[in-house]
Amino acid sequence: MNNKSDPHLVIVGGGASGLIASIMAAKSGLRITLLEQNSQIGKKIRISGNGKCNITNKTIVPERFHSHHQNFIEAVLQDYGFNTVKMFFTSIGLELVEGKEGKMFPMSLQASSVAELLEYEAKKLGVNLIYNCRANSICKKNDIFILETTQGIQKCEKLLLASGSPAAPQLGGNDSGLYFAKQMGHTIIPSLPSLVQLCSEETWVKHVGGVKCEGVAKLYANGEYITEKKGDLLFTAYGISGLAILDISREASLHLADYAYCELSLDLMPKLNKEKLTALLLGRIQKESSKPLNLWLQGILNKKLIPIILEQSQCKAKSEGELNRKEIVKLVFALKNLKLSINGTKGFSGAEVAIGGVDATQIDSKTMESKLVENLYFAGEIIDVDGDRGGFNFHFAWVSGMRAGQSIVI
Ligand SMILES: Cc1cc2nc3c(=O)[nH]c(=O)nc-3n(C[C@H](O)[C@H](O)[C@H](O)COP(=O)(O)OP(=O)(O)OC[C@H]3O[C@@H](n4cnc5c(N)ncnc54)[C@H](O)[C@@H]3O)c2cc1C
Repeated sequence: MNNKSDPHLVIVGGGASGLIASIMAAKSGLRITLLEQNSQIGKKIRISGNGKCNITNKTIVPERFHSHHQNFIEAVLQDYGFNTVKMFFTSIGLELVEGKEGKMFPMSLQASSVAELLEYEAKKLGVNLIYNCRANSICKKNDIFILETTQGIQKCEKLLLASGSPAAPQLGGNDSGLYFAKQMGHTIIPSLPSLVQLCSEETWVKHVGGVKCEGVAKLYANGEYITEKKGDLLFTAYGISGLAILDISREASLHLADYAYCELSLDLMPKLNKEKLTALLLGRIQKESSKPLNLWLQGILNKKLIPIILEQSQCKAKSEGELNRKEIVKLVFALKNLKLSINGTKGFSGAEVAIGGVDATQIDSKTMESKLVENLYFAGEIIDVDGDRGGFNFHFAWVSGMRAGQSIVI
């Protein structure tokens, strides 16, 4: 039996899922201690969404979430859609506003307001928040969990692991929770970075660092088309970033981990199809002109990209006047299919989330309780679920935390 001064529930991790779970569980009158290794809670919340926190999305559908067990996601999301999260935040005094593509933000457009209101609510309900406290080891003896932490021993009847994933170690991301779960018998699906920048060893990319354009990125693995995403492309000294790249990075990460040869084919002129671009370029040719080809191309393209397009297209013309339909076709192909080989990702330090985690088949989708260890619960990114960019990762953290917090009763 637990000592009367011991908490009923200890939560490891003061991020999105741990905080919301603590608030839900505190409403049932539990004594709760929440351990956070950082000096503040919710570090990821505070910098998320470029400082605005894309808190959820108006269109919550299972297809925007990924796991080795997709049925688990469907079950967790059932009755825990957008309105559930909106109602919760309204109840703690945070209004939401809609941005592009259904993305929802706090009305303040300040991510810190989300963390601060959650912290206030948890404290108000009596949750004992312990900062700078890292759980180093966990074991279970006689139905009591014993945690060895940097601030001494904690004992509890119920334990919630909400310690996140290895993504963004600079903000507290690590795999300690996965290690604890493994020690208690859980299967861990190896973590991989997602929503992350991609690296290339091609030398040309270093010369175009800083160039940003709208485009479409198509991913090929071992020559096979995988998927494509539209949006910003940002060339960098190490490779490529931008929203289209973050969106395609999940698939790239999985194929790179499988030792596939990965290549991007970039459409730098997505608003013009092949025919329209050909017509545009043909229409721009002045037959007698001796204008150098790279200057002629500056009329339509960032000049840093021109040598790469000329090289990849193998265009033979040196000046505008030397261009003909055959050479234009080559240029159009290169402009719509610029090849960039990819040899890795920026790793967890560049990633917003991690693929993988605790095997979802070993967790009850309604209560978040372990099916292997009684009174052990999971919430958030520690579980093998990751979402698309657009508020889906926080959505999963909120709803899995809510389910855990609501089901933990004494
Ligand atoms: C730069 C960035 C921007 C993002 N922007 C968005 C966005 O706009 N929208 C969106 O939906 N998602 C976004 N995400 C993803 C989102 O932040 C995560 O999916 C979400 O925070 C996961 O919540 P969590 O509670 O599972 O984990 P976390 O929020 O990572 O919380 C886990 C906590 O546990 C603590 N911890 C870990 N181990 C221990 C230990 N052993 N002892 C004590 N404490 C421990 C950590 O310090 C951390 O505070 C972003 C992520 C990053 C990195």
